[in-house]
Amino acid sequence: MEKRYYTFRRFLRGLLGSPVYKIPLDAGFGCPNRDGTAGVGGCTFCLNRAFSPFAGDRTAVSEQLRAFKAARRPGERYIAYFQAYTNTYAPLETLRGLYEEALSDPDVVGLAVATRPDCVPDSVLELLQGYTGRWMVWVEYGLQSSNNETLKRINRGHDFAAFLDAVGRTKGRGIYVGAHVILGLPGETRADLLRTAEALNTSGVDGVKLHHLQVFKGTALAAEWSEGRVGVLTVDEYVSVACDFIESLSPQTVILRLVGDVTDEALLLAPRWGVSKAQVIGAIDAELGRRGTRQGSRLSEMCETKGRR
Ligand code: SF4
Repeated sequence: MEKRYYTFRRFLRGLLGSPVYKIPLDAGFGCPNRDGTAGVGGCTFCLNRAFSPFAGDRTAVSEQLRAFKAARRPGERYIAYFQAYTNTYAPLETLRGLYEEALSDPDVVGLAVATRPDCVPDSVLELLQGYTGRWMVWVEYGLQSSNNETLKRINRGHDFAAFLDAVGRTKGRGIYVGAHVILGLPGETRADLLRTAEALNTSGVDGVKLHHLQVFKGTALAAEWSEGRVGVLTVDEYVSVACDFIESLSPQTVILRLVGDVTDEALLLAPRWGVSKAQVIGAIDAELGRRGTRQGSRLSEMCETKGRR
């Protein structure tokens, strides 16, 4: 049955005609929010090896691609997804070598690069633009929230204006732009989440990845959580706010992900929902069905509210 929101699968089917799978890669990048360039300590929630399946894999990019494909069916097509850490944080020639190592794989039809909005000089965007004639190219910017107070609280090391600047410089180059958002961040209300959806609608992004706030061992967030200063959403609360968010998002925006991943349950302190990712997605589908709503349903209501202000 057709989903009540614009899935990445539907987007890919429309563009490429058949399913395409993302291969997550760790190309050995660092992060400017950890080494003092943008900040120190990193984002309070961040533990890359907990959400990047190959984080810490120090084999060559081509080897990581080969290893992933070995377990798949022949003839499948892939997007090389530079996922771990900040995947534009290196000299231009290093980036070129790594991206082109992935693109030289004949089964790779696309490139996705996850990065920070304050780490994309125009020279990097020009490099990526050069690939768009032959491959589908996405840049996924970590945003997490449009609320600057929240960004400070989670130690992002950039503000919302930096995100808008990066999106503005990326658009018009044939590059698809994604944004990563976390629902349930410390101090955020439902109204904050809806403001983020609203801000994304006018930002020009093509896709959004939704995650729930997860507390991983050893992070700054873990310390706040264990002291009772931060809470996490129950699965029912997450399903409810994810539906609110989807209803507030433009129907033209592709939903690249609906819920966060965890690669190793042993690293996760909270939430321990005890349900699979597929069950959470099923619950979101069921809740939208129960409400009789879909992606963008709230937009007219939001416009009317604005008009009354
Ligand atoms: S989430 Fe991204 S930007 Fe933040 S510390 Fe981790 S790698 Fe760096």
